[in-house]
Amino acid sequence: MSAQPTTVIVGAGFAGLATAYHLSLTTDRRVIVLEGSPRLGAHASGRNAGLLMQGLASSTWRQLVIASRRALVPHATAIGLQPTGSWLLGPAEFLETLRDPAVPSRLRSAESCREDHPLLRGTRFEAALETPSDAVVDPLRLLDFYAQKGRAIDLRLDSRVHSIEVLAGSPRFRLTTARGDVLADNLVNAAGAWANDLAQLVGSSPLPLTAFKRHLFHFRASKPTLPTPFVWDQQRNFYFRPANEEDWLFCIGDERPQEDLRETVDDSLRADVECVRRLDLPQLEDAVETAAWSCFRTKSSDGDPIVGWDPETAGMFWVAGLGGSGMSASWEIGRQAAELLRRRAEGTPSDAVSSLAPMRFG
Ligand SMILES: Cc1cc2nc3c(=O)[nH]c(=O)nc-3n(C[C@H](O)[C@H](O)[C@H](O)COP(=O)(O)OP(=O)(O)OC[C@H]3O[C@@H](n4cnc5c(N)ncnc54)[C@H](O)[C@@H]3O)c2cc1C
Repeated sequence: MSAQPTTVIVGAGFAGLATAYHLSLTTDRRVIVLEGSPRLGAHASGRNAGLLMQGLASSTWRQLVIASRRALVPHATAIGLQPTGSWLLGPAEFLETLRDPAVPSRLRSAESCREDHPLLRGTRFEAALETPSDAVVDPLRLLDFYAQKGRAIDLRLDSRVHSIEVLAGSPRFRLTTARGDVLADNLVNAAGAWANDLAQLVGSSPLPLTAFKRHLFHFRASKPTLPTPFVWDQQRNFYFRPANEEDWLFCIGDERPQEDLRETVDDSLRADVECVRRLDLPQLEDAVETAAWSCFRTKSSDGDPIVGWDPETAGMFWVAGLGGSGMSASWEIGRQAAELLRRRAEGTPSDAVSSLAPMRFG
Protein backbone atom coordinates (compact mmCIF):
# COMPACT_ATOMS: atom_id res chain seq x y z
CA MET A 1 0.00 0.00 0.00
CA SER A 2 1.34 3.46 -0.87
CA ALA A 3 1.80 6.06 1.88
CA GLN A 4 -0.86 8.22 0.22
CA PRO A 5 -4.05 8.05 2.34
CA THR A 6 -6.68 5.98 0.58
CA THR A 7 -10.45 6.33 0.53
CA VAL A 8 -12.28 3.28 -0.75
CA ILE A 9 -15.82 3.86 -1.98
CA VAL A 10 -18.05 0.80 -2.26
CA GLY A 11 -20.65 1.21 -5.00
CA ALA A 12 -20.29 2.93 -8.37
CA GLY A 13 -23.79 4.35 -8.62
CA PHE A 14 -24.53 8.08 -8.36
CA ALA A 15 -23.76 8.11 -4.61
CA GLY A 16 -20.33 6.56 -5.04
CA LEU A 17 -19.19 8.14 -8.30
CA ALA A 18 -20.33 11.70 -7.53
CA THR A 19 -18.48 11.47 -4.19
CA ALA A 20 -15.39 10.03 -5.91
CA TYR A 21 -15.48 12.81 -8.52
CA HIS A 22 -15.55 15.65 -5.98
CA LEU A 23 -13.12 13.96 -3.57
CA SER A 24 -10.58 13.37 -6.33
CA LEU A 25 -10.73 17.02 -7.40
CA THR A 26 -10.55 18.54 -3.92
CA THR A 27 -8.09 16.31 -2.02
CA ASP A 28 -4.82 14.48 -2.61
CA ARG A 29 -6.27 11.22 -1.34
CA ARG A 30 -6.12 8.11 -3.46
CA VAL A 31 -9.70 7.26 -4.46
CA ILE A 32 -10.61 3.65 -5.24
CA VAL A 33 -14.19 2.74 -6.22
CA LEU A 34 -15.20 -0.91 -5.89
CA GLU A 35 -18.27 -1.98 -7.86
CA GLY A 36 -19.71 -5.47 -7.64
CA SER A 37 -21.23 -5.44 -11.14
CA PRO A 38 -19.16 -5.90 -14.29
CA ARG A 39 -20.47 -2.62 -15.76
CA LEU A 40 -21.54 0.84 -14.65
CA GLY A 41 -25.24 1.48 -14.05
CA ALA A 42 -26.30 -2.14 -13.51
CA HIS A 43 -28.68 -1.09 -10.74
CA ALA A 44 -30.79 1.98 -9.87
CA SER A 45 -28.31 4.52 -11.25
CA GLY A 46 -28.32 3.11 -14.76
CA ARG A 47 -31.95 2.03 -14.86
CA ASN A 48 -33.80 5.17 -13.77
CA ALA A 49 -36.07 7.53 -15.70
CA GLY A 50 -33.49 10.28 -16.22
CA LEU A 51 -35.78 13.09 -15.01
CA LEU A 52 -34.22 16.18 -13.49
CA MET A 53 -37.19 17.66 -11.65
CA GLN A 54 -36.93 20.61 -9.30
CA GLY A 55 -40.59 20.89 -8.20
CA LEU A 56 -40.22 18.60 -5.19
CA ALA A 57 -42.30 18.75 -2.02
CA SER A 58 -39.27 18.22 0.27
CA SER A 59 -37.26 21.43 0.55
CA THR A 60 -34.10 19.41 1.36
CA TRP A 61 -34.33 17.52 -1.91
CA ARG A 62 -35.46 20.58 -3.84
CA GLN A 63 -32.35 22.55 -2.81
CA LEU A 64 -30.05 19.59 -3.60
CA VAL A 65 -31.55 19.25 -7.07
CA ILE A 66 -31.56 22.99 -7.82
CA ALA A 67 -27.85 23.25 -6.90
CA SER A 68 -27.02 20.12 -8.90
CA ARG A 69 -28.86 21.31 -12.00
CA ARG A 70 -26.93 24.58 -11.95
CA ALA A 71 -23.64 22.71 -11.80
CA LEU A 72 -24.60 20.14 -14.44
CA VAL A 73 -25.91 22.50 -17.14
CA PRO A 74 -22.41 23.57 -18.30
CA HIS A 75 -21.72 19.85 -18.97
CA ALA A 76 -24.97 19.35 -20.90
CA THR A 77 -23.36 17.89 -24.02
CA ALA A 78 -21.20 15.41 -22.12
CA ILE A 79 -24.06 14.10 -19.98
CA GLY A 80 -26.82 14.16 -22.61
CA LEU A 81 -28.84 16.80 -20.75
CA GLN A 82 -31.84 17.92 -22.80
CA PRO A 83 -33.70 20.99 -21.52
CA THR A 84 -37.13 19.50 -22.17
CA GLY A 85 -38.90 21.30 -19.32
CA SER A 86 -41.63 19.61 -17.31
CA TRP A 87 -45.35 19.79 -16.68
CA LEU A 88 -46.53 18.65 -13.27
CA LEU A 89 -50.28 18.05 -13.28
CA GLY A 90 -52.64 18.47 -10.34
CA PRO A 91 -54.80 20.88 -8.35
CA ALA A 92 -53.49 24.46 -8.76
CA GLU A 93 -53.36 24.95 -5.00
CA PHE A 94 -51.10 21.94 -4.54
CA LEU A 95 -48.87 22.84 -7.51
CA GLU A 96 -48.24 26.25 -5.92
CA THR A 97 -46.55 24.47 -2.97
CA LEU A 98 -43.99 22.91 -5.33
CA ARG A 99 -42.74 26.23 -6.68
CA ASP A 100 -39.40 27.65 -5.59
CA PRO A 101 -38.58 31.37 -5.86
CA ALA A 102 -35.21 30.48 -7.44
CA VAL A 103 -36.77 28.46 -10.27
CA PRO A 104 -38.88 30.22 -12.93
CA SER A 105 -42.19 28.41 -13.42
CA ARG A 106 -45.80 29.18 -14.28
CA LEU A 107 -49.22 27.64 -13.91
CA ARG A 108 -51.00 26.66 -17.11
CA SER A 109 -54.59 25.71 -17.74
CA ALA A 110 -55.39 22.07 -18.50
CA GLU A 111 -57.01 23.15 -21.75
CA SER A 112 -53.88 24.78 -23.17
CA CYS A 113 -51.77 21.77 -22.19
CA ARG A 114 -54.17 19.36 -23.90
CA GLU A 115 -53.86 21.40 -27.08
CA ASP A 116 -50.05 21.25 -26.98
CA HIS A 117 -49.42 17.66 -25.92
CA PRO A 118 -50.66 14.73 -28.03
CA LEU A 119 -50.86 12.31 -25.08
CA LEU A 120 -52.91 14.58 -22.82
CA ARG A 121 -56.03 14.65 -24.98
CA GLY A 122 -58.58 12.84 -22.81
CA THR A 123 -56.58 13.14 -19.57
CA ARG A 124 -58.35 14.74 -16.59
CA PHE A 125 -56.41 17.29 -14.51
CA GLU A 126 -57.00 20.76 -13.10
CA ALA A 127 -53.79 22.60 -14.00
CA ALA A 128 -50.13 22.16 -14.87
CA LEU A 129 -47.00 23.65 -13.36
CA GLU A 130 -44.60 24.34 -16.22
CA THR A 131 -40.90 24.47 -15.31
CA PRO A 132 -38.83 25.18 -18.43
CA SER A 133 -35.47 24.55 -16.72
CA ASP A 134 -36.32 20.94 -15.79
CA ALA A 135 -34.53 18.45 -17.99
CA VAL A 136 -33.87 14.88 -19.01
CA VAL A 137 -30.36 13.51 -18.46
CA ASP A 138 -28.74 10.35 -19.85
CA PRO A 139 -27.95 8.45 -16.62
CA LEU A 140 -25.19 6.32 -18.16
CA ARG A 141 -23.42 9.35 -19.60
CA LEU A 142 -23.62 11.15 -16.26
CA LEU A 143 -22.13 8.13 -14.47
CA ASP A 144 -19.39 7.98 -17.08
CA PHE A 145 -18.76 11.72 -16.68
CA TYR A 146 -18.16 11.37 -12.92
CA ALA A 147 -15.88 8.35 -13.46
CA GLN A 148 -13.84 9.92 -16.28
CA LYS A 149 -13.65 13.57 -15.25
CA GLY A 150 -12.47 12.93 -11.70
CA ARG A 151 -8.72 13.02 -11.16
CA ALA A 152 -7.35 9.50 -11.58
CA ILE A 153 -10.27 7.66 -9.96
CA ASP A 154 -9.29 3.99 -9.68
CA LEU A 155 -12.59 2.36 -10.66
CA ARG A 156 -12.64 -1.42 -10.25
CA LEU A 157 -15.65 -3.16 -11.78
CA ASP A 158 -16.59 -6.76 -10.99
CA SER A 159 -15.14 -6.26 -7.50
CA ARG A 160 -17.88 -7.22 -5.08
CA VAL A 161 -16.78 -6.74 -1.47
CA HIS A 162 -17.35 -10.03 0.36
CA SER A 163 -15.86 -9.27 3.76
CA ILE A 164 -14.26 -6.38 5.64
CA GLU A 165 -11.76 -6.63 8.46
CA VAL A 166 -11.53 -3.63 10.78
CA LEU A 167 -7.82 -3.25 11.63
CA ALA A 168 -6.34 -1.86 14.83
CA GLY A 169 -4.11 0.87 13.36
CA SER A 170 -3.73 2.62 10.04
CA PRO A 171 -4.98 1.66 7.47
CA ARG A 172 -8.25 0.92 9.22
CA PHE A 173 -9.93 -1.50 6.80
CA ARG A 174 -9.03 -4.56 4.76
CA LEU A 175 -11.71 -5.27 2.12
CA THR A 176 -11.77 -8.66 0.43
CA THR A 177 -13.06 -8.86 -3.13
CA ALA A 178 -12.98 -11.58 -5.78
CA ARG A 179 -10.12 -9.62 -7.35
CA GLY A 180 -7.97 -9.37 -4.24
CA ASP A 181 -7.70 -7.40 -1.01
CA VAL A 182 -7.80 -3.61 -0.75
CA LEU A 183 -6.60 -1.56 2.23
CA ALA A 184 -8.30 1.71 3.17
CA ASP A 185 -8.01 4.51 5.70
CA ASN A 186 -11.61 5.56 5.06
CA LEU A 187 -14.51 3.53 3.74
CA VAL A 188 -17.47 5.16 1.99
CA ASN A 189 -20.66 3.12 2.07
CA ALA A 190 -22.38 3.97 -1.23
CA ALA A 191 -23.91 0.54 -1.73
CA GLY A 192 -27.46 1.74 -2.53
CA ALA A 193 -30.12 -0.82 -1.63
CA TRP A 194 -27.33 -3.00 -0.14
CA ALA A 195 -25.91 -0.30 2.20
CA ASN A 196 -27.08 -2.07 5.37
CA ASP A 197 -25.49 -5.34 4.20
CA LEU A 198 -22.20 -3.49 3.86
CA ALA A 199 -22.60 -1.91 7.31
CA GLN A 200 -23.07 -5.40 8.69
CA LEU A 201 -19.70 -6.46 7.23
CA VAL A 202 -17.93 -3.89 9.44
CA GLY A 203 -20.15 -4.65 12.45
CA SER A 204 -22.07 -1.36 12.41
CA SER A 205 -25.79 -1.16 13.19
CA PRO A 206 -28.14 -0.83 10.23
CA LEU A 207 -29.71 2.56 9.51
CA PRO A 208 -33.48 2.95 8.86
CA LEU A 209 -33.33 2.40 5.10
CA THR A 210 -36.04 0.73 3.03
CA ALA A 211 -35.77 -0.37 -0.61
CA PHE A 212 -38.91 0.34 -2.65
CA LYS A 213 -39.34 -1.46 -5.95
CA ARG A 214 -40.48 0.59 -8.93
CA HIS A 215 -41.15 -0.44 -12.55
CA LEU A 216 -40.58 1.45 -15.80
CA PHE A 217 -42.12 0.61 -19.18
CA HIS A 218 -41.62 1.57 -22.80
CA PHE A 219 -44.80 1.80 -24.88
CA ARG A 220 -45.01 2.23 -28.66
CA ALA A 221 -48.03 4.12 -29.92
CA SER A 222 -49.24 4.22 -33.53
CA LYS A 223 -47.71 7.68 -34.10
CA PRO A 224 -44.04 8.58 -33.50
CA THR A 225 -43.19 10.48 -30.30
CA LEU A 226 -42.70 14.25 -30.31
CA PRO A 227 -40.12 16.23 -28.33
CA THR A 228 -42.33 17.29 -25.40
CA PRO A 229 -41.73 18.18 -21.73
CA PHE A 230 -41.89 15.27 -19.32
CA VAL A 231 -45.25 15.02 -17.60
CA TRP A 232 -45.87 13.91 -14.01
CA ASP A 233 -49.42 13.68 -12.70
CA GLN A 234 -48.92 14.53 -9.03
CA GLN A 235 -52.40 13.47 -7.99
CA ARG A 236 -52.56 10.05 -9.60
CA ASN A 237 -48.76 9.70 -9.50
CA PHE A 238 -47.92 8.51 -13.01
CA TYR A 239 -45.35 10.03 -15.36
CA PHE A 240 -44.16 9.73 -18.94
CA ARG A 241 -41.74 11.20 -21.45
CA PRO A 242 -40.50 10.35 -24.94
CA ALA A 243 -37.87 7.60 -24.59
CA ASN A 244 -36.78 7.74 -28.25
CA GLU A 245 -38.43 8.48 -31.59
CA GLU A 246 -40.87 5.58 -31.24
CA ASP A 247 -41.39 4.80 -27.57
CA TRP A 248 -42.79 6.55 -24.53
CA LEU A 249 -41.20 5.85 -21.15
CA PHE A 250 -43.99 5.35 -18.63
CA CYS A 251 -44.27 4.77 -14.88
CA ILE A 252 -47.31 4.42 -12.61
CA GLY A 253 -45.35 5.50 -9.54
CA ASP A 254 -45.51 2.07 -7.89
CA GLU A 255 -43.61 1.88 -4.63
CA ARG A 256 -43.50 -1.49 -2.86
CA PRO A 257 -41.14 -2.00 0.09
CA GLN A 258 -39.15 -5.14 -0.58
CA GLU A 259 -36.49 -7.29 1.07
CA ASP A 260 -35.87 -9.41 -2.02
CA LEU A 261 -33.61 -7.14 -4.07
CA ARG A 262 -33.89 -8.98 -7.39
CA GLU A 263 -34.81 -6.54 -10.17
CA THR A 264 -37.57 -8.68 -11.66
CA VAL A 265 -40.75 -7.48 -13.35
CA ASP A 266 -43.88 -8.27 -11.31
CA ASP A 267 -46.57 -9.44 -13.69
CA SER A 268 -49.28 -8.50 -11.18
CA LEU A 269 -48.42 -4.84 -11.74
CA ARG A 270 -49.46 -4.95 -15.40
CA ALA A 271 -53.16 -4.87 -14.46
CA ASP A 272 -52.57 -1.57 -12.61
CA VAL A 273 -50.66 -0.19 -15.59
CA GLU A 274 -53.55 -1.10 -17.90
CA CYS A 275 -55.97 0.61 -15.55
CA VAL A 276 -53.97 3.88 -15.53
CA ARG A 277 -53.64 3.82 -19.32
CA ARG A 278 -57.34 3.19 -19.85
CA LEU A 279 -58.66 5.71 -17.33
CA ASP A 280 -56.03 8.44 -17.23
CA LEU A 281 -54.09 8.27 -20.48
CA PRO A 282 -56.46 7.04 -23.19
CA GLN A 283 -54.02 8.12 -25.93
CA LEU A 284 -51.71 5.32 -24.77
CA GLU A 285 -54.46 2.73 -24.34
CA ASP A 286 -53.65 0.81 -27.53
CA ALA A 287 -49.89 1.28 -27.36
CA VAL A 288 -47.76 -1.87 -27.28
CA GLU A 289 -45.30 -2.61 -24.48
CA THR A 290 -41.78 -2.86 -25.90
CA ALA A 291 -39.73 -3.04 -22.69
CA ALA A 292 -40.21 -3.34 -18.91
CA TRP A 293 -37.80 -3.37 -15.98
CA SER A 294 -37.61 -2.59 -12.28
CA CYS A 295 -35.10 -1.28 -9.76
CA PHE A 296 -35.02 0.06 -6.21
CA ARG A 297 -35.44 3.50 -4.70
CA THR A 298 -33.82 3.36 -1.26
CA LYS A 299 -35.25 5.80 1.26
CA SER A 300 -34.40 6.68 4.85
CA SER A 301 -37.20 6.79 7.43
CA ASP A 302 -37.41 10.62 7.25
CA GLY A 303 -37.00 10.67 3.47
CA ASP A 304 -33.78 12.71 3.46
CA PRO A 305 -30.49 11.33 2.16
CA ILE A 306 -27.87 10.07 4.62
CA VAL A 307 -24.50 11.78 4.25
CA GLY A 308 -21.98 11.57 7.09
CA TRP A 309 -19.80 9.53 9.41
CA ASP A 310 -21.00 6.30 10.95
CA PRO A 311 -21.65 6.78 14.69
CA GLU A 312 -20.14 3.38 15.57
CA THR A 313 -17.28 2.50 13.21
CA ALA A 314 -14.53 5.11 13.00
CA GLY A 315 -13.56 5.82 9.41
CA MET A 316 -16.80 4.66 7.78
CA PHE A 317 -18.87 7.28 5.96
CA TRP A 318 -22.39 6.89 4.53
CA VAL A 319 -23.76 8.25 1.26
CA ALA A 320 -27.10 6.44 1.10
CA GLY A 321 -30.87 6.83 0.92
CA LEU A 322 -30.83 8.70 -2.40
CA GLY A 323 -34.51 7.83 -2.90
CA GLY A 324 -36.21 8.94 -6.10
CA SER A 325 -33.98 11.94 -6.92
CA GLY A 326 -30.51 10.46 -6.59
CA MET A 327 -29.50 11.18 -10.16
CA SER A 328 -30.73 14.81 -10.18
CA ALA A 329 -29.25 15.58 -6.75
CA SER A 330 -26.02 13.62 -7.28
CA TRP A 331 -23.70 16.56 -7.95
CA GLU A 332 -24.55 18.36 -4.71
CA ILE A 333 -24.74 15.21 -2.58
CA GLY A 334 -21.30 14.15 -3.85
CA ARG A 335 -19.93 17.65 -3.28
CA GLN A 336 -21.20 17.79 0.30
CA ALA A 337 -19.92 14.26 1.03
CA ALA A 338 -16.46 15.10 -0.33
CA GLU A 339 -16.39 18.30 1.72
CA LEU A 340 -17.12 16.40 4.96
CA LEU A 341 -14.52 13.75 4.13
CA ARG A 342 -11.96 16.45 3.39
CA ARG A 343 -12.70 18.35 6.61
CA ARG A 344 -12.21 15.28 8.77
CA ALA A 345 -8.94 14.46 6.97
CA GLU A 346 -7.71 17.99 7.68
CA GLY A 347 -8.84 17.82 11.33
CA THR A 348 -11.33 20.69 10.97
CA PRO A 349 -14.71 20.65 12.81
CA SER A 350 -16.82 17.50 12.70
CA ASP A 351 -20.13 17.13 10.94
CA ALA A 352 -22.04 16.07 14.08
CA VAL A 353 -24.56 18.86 13.53
CA SER A 354 -25.14 18.20 9.82
CA SER A 355 -28.84 17.61 9.23
CA LEU A 356 -28.05 14.74 6.85
CA ALA A 357 -25.69 12.89 9.24
CA PRO A 358 -26.57 9.29 10.27
CA MET A 359 -26.43 10.48 13.87
CA ARG A 360 -29.91 12.01 13.45
CA PHE A 361 -31.41 8.52 13.84
CA GLY A 362 -30.05 8.28 17.43
C1 LIG B 1 -37.61 3.21 -11.43
C2 LIG B 1 -36.77 4.33 -10.91
C3 LIG B 1 -36.79 5.56 -11.54
C4 LIG B 1 -36.00 6.61 -11.07
N1 LIG B 1 -36.03 7.78 -11.73
C5 LIG B 1 -35.25 8.79 -11.32
C6 LIG B 1 -35.26 10.01 -12.02
O1 LIG B 1 -35.96 10.17 -12.99
N2 LIG B 1 -34.45 11.02 -11.56
C7 LIG B 1 -33.64 10.86 -10.47
O2 LIG B 1 -32.95 11.81 -10.08
N3 LIG B 1 -33.60 9.70 -9.80
C8 LIG B 1 -34.38 8.66 -10.18
N4 LIG B 1 -34.37 7.48 -9.51
C9 LIG B 1 -33.54 7.39 -8.30
C10 LIG B 1 -32.07 7.11 -8.61
O3 LIG B 1 -31.96 6.14 -9.61
C11 LIG B 1 -31.39 6.62 -7.32
O4 LIG B 1 -31.60 7.54 -6.27
C12 LIG B 1 -29.89 6.46 -7.48
O5 LIG B 1 -29.57 5.75 -8.63
C13 LIG B 1 -29.29 5.76 -6.27
O6 LIG B 1 -27.91 5.67 -6.46
P1 LIG B 1 -27.01 4.81 -5.52
O7 LIG B 1 -25.61 5.03 -5.94
O8 LIG B 1 -27.36 5.08 -4.09
O9 LIG B 1 -27.48 3.29 -5.77
P2 LIG B 1 -27.10 2.25 -6.93
O10 LIG B 1 -27.21 2.83 -8.26
O11 LIG B 1 -27.90 1.02 -6.66
O12 LIG B 1 -25.57 1.95 -6.67
C14 LIG B 1 -25.12 1.14 -5.62
C15 LIG B 1 -24.05 0.25 -6.20
O13 LIG B 1 -23.40 -0.45 -5.13
C16 LIG B 1 -22.99 -1.69 -5.62
N5 LIG B 1 -22.75 -2.57 -4.47
C17 LIG B 1 -23.63 -2.93 -3.50
N6 LIG B 1 -23.04 -3.74 -2.61
C18 LIG B 1 -21.76 -3.89 -3.03
C19 LIG B 1 -20.66 -4.64 -2.54
N7 LIG B 1 -20.73 -5.40 -1.43
N8 LIG B 1 -19.48 -4.59 -3.22
C20 LIG B 1 -19.36 -3.83 -4.35
N9 LIG B 1 -20.39 -3.11 -4.87
C21 LIG B 1 -21.57 -3.15 -4.22
C22 LIG B 1 -24.15 -2.14 -6.50
O14 LIG B 1 -23.72 -3.10 -7.44
C23 LIG B 1 -24.60 -0.83 -7.13
O15 LIG B 1 -24.07 -0.63 -8.42
C24 LIG B 1 -35.16 6.42 -9.93
C25 LIG B 1 -35.12 5.19 -9.30
C26 LIG B 1 -35.91 4.14 -9.77
C27 LIG B 1 -35.84 2.80 -9.08
